[in-house]
Amino acid sequence: MNCRDLRPLLARYVDGEVEGYEQTLIQQHLMSCKTCAAAVSELKMARQRVQREIKNWAASAVPPATARERLLAKLAAEKDTPVQTVRPDKPFSKHFSGAALLTRMIWVGLLVIIIIAALIFILSMSKAS
Ligand SMILES: [Zn+2]
Repeated sequence: MNCRDLRPLLARYVDGEVEGYEQTLIQQHLMSCKTCAAAVSELKMARQRVQREIKNWAASAVPPATARERLLAKLAAEKDTPVQTVRPDKPFSKHFSGAALLTRMIWVGLLVIIIIAALIFILSMSKAS
């Protein structure tokens, strides 16, 4: 591996994204080439600087003044909302899906037909008498 082959791989190498044979080739080149070794250490320092800056920025970030009230209001609203629980052994969808749903619909339909027939029978008997 020469300097020109290595340059496009340097960022990936510094980020730890190069493995195996490719990593070995890069390491061998870095031991013999001071220019590329210097480029790698510059990249590593830049990476550390960016990480440090991000950490400092995140640590000093201040949420908006109203954020706390909004969060507490949302939590209170969620607390008042009833939680729907589904038994894991019989999920909601199992009650209303496929063959089970068809069977229930047939039973309900038969029940409705029987009730209507009974009502018609009762009405016709009361008219006859
Ligand atoms: Zn080199």
